[in-house]
Amino acid sequence: MENKYDLIVIGAGPGGYVAAIKAAKLGLRTAVIEAGRVGGTCLNRGCIPAKAMLHASSLYREIQEGERFGILALDVSFDYEKILAYKEGTTEKLVQGVDKLLKANGVALISGRGTLLSKRQVQVTDQGTQEIYSAQNIILATGSKPLLLPIQGMDLPGVLTSDELFQLKKLPESLVIIGGGVISVEFATAFAAFGCKITILEALPRLIPNMEKEISQNLKLILKKRGIDIHTSASVQSVVEDNGAYACRFIEKEKEMSVSAQYVLCAVGRIPNTEGLFGEGIQPEMERGRVVVDEHFKTSLEGVYAIGDLIKGMQLAHTASAQGMVTAEYLAGKEASIDLNVVPSCVYTSPEIASVGLTEDEAKEKGIPVRVGKFIMSANGKSLITQEERGFVKVVVQEKTDQILGAQMMCARATDMIGEFSTAIANHMSAGQLLKGMRAHPTYNEGVGEALEELFDGAIHV
Ligand code: FAD
Repeated sequence: MENKYDLIVIGAGPGGYVAAIKAAKLGLRTAVIEAGRVGGTCLNRGCIPAKAMLHASSLYREIQEGERFGILALDVSFDYEKILAYKEGTTEKLVQGVDKLLKANGVALISGRGTLLSKRQVQVTDQGTQEIYSAQNIILATGSKPLLLPIQGMDLPGVLTSDELFQLKKLPESLVIIGGGVISVEFATAFAAFGCKITILEALPRLIPNMEKEISQNLKLILKKRGIDIHTSASVQSVVEDNGAYACRFIEKEKEMSVSAQYVLCAVGRIPNTEGLFGEGIQPEMERGRVVVDEHFKTSLEGVYAIGDLIKGMQLAHTASAQGMVTAEYLAGKEASIDLNVVPSCVYTSPEIASVGLTEDEAKEKGIPVRVGKFIMSANGKSLITQEERGFVKVVVQEKTDQILGAQMMCARATDMIGEFSTAIANHMSAGQLLKGMRAHPTYNEGVGEALEELFDGAIHV
């Protein structure tokens, strides 16, 4: 009885620990197996430490720029060791919080590396000892790890992944970042604010290519203004040692170029973590290294489910958690409480960027006639008070029904405000319905109301 559960979850990242807690709340006897610390990539090496660094860096920049608010902070400086301690303290608090939540909900936390032995059995290896556990159902939630480019020089000591960059005890003097996606621009924003010289090399023609063009272009201008060098359509060929530094050789517009820095960060994506996960003769169907699942997150092995970074789709903490919730609900015979098709994407640069649903171009590509309401945030009272960079809120609605199909924002607190649109899209709301709720003044949220007003009689403050 001791080692028998209704559900075993392998991996306690935001996918696994949320699935386990939800399952326990729904009455399933649940265990979660974790090889490292609970919280996974998100709490230990991802979202939380990255946002802590971004918070400290933006505070530093704001204080330096305080004169425009009449704040004269002379000789502003920072202590990098203390910033790291703040970052680690924040992570620690959250990790302990997850530990407590698991206990409070009666989830058994089993330390060690889990290996699927059969559709109902998992072997856990911890410090040389092995134990076998069984369950009616198993959820695989082992996440992902950083991907290195298959080029010369990736094994050099100065070439780092995001995991290793977090471990540096000293602020790098200079950093070349290979890749211009979300992780890249967030690290660039944080480290540049502390005075680290940053160069971004992106193979595609623009930064954060998953966002719409206007946002990429604005972000490029803002980052350049902050002294960050950006090369797009730049294909990195190799990294070599260069007098104690590291030179990235790349081709841009058919020209061979090179840029050197103290460190090189490879931020080109992440690959699923399946090392040692499958025992002999037991492996679910895979596609390009990812576990294949159906709409209920069932793998090809009966009773075995997979969620989060391990499967196809957006590699985001909230996606993993939502999939965990919905899978637990499915196993407990309940209807899904979250619409998994509506996924907000956020970039925590300054200003923030957020997007959900369809962009205008995507709707047009799909042949959907749309109308677009756009409000420039320079006319928003709160943005004027805080003197934020020029930004915008844009909403895309179906032409005839006014049903909200998507929204894109680039402005302060965009990552908080995008929730309004996620809720509206998931509930098939029209622009008129979302407009009905009054927004407080002065708030950035008024920009959402104004963008919606643009679809009807026109925004007031333009
Ligand atoms: P993970 O979080 O990777 O957790 C998997 C867990 O499984 C780990 O704890 C691992 O130790 C454990 N494990 C692996 N194999 C085994 C095994 N065999 N046995 C037992 N345990 C095992 N996402 C956002 O939504 N917002 C952000 O702002 C954001 N910022 C990010 C910043 C950075 C720098 C990075 C790297 C990522 C960021 N992400 C962000 C992505 C987010 O961290 C991941 O999408 C999310 O953590 C995936 O959750 P998961 O539960 O699938 O896997």
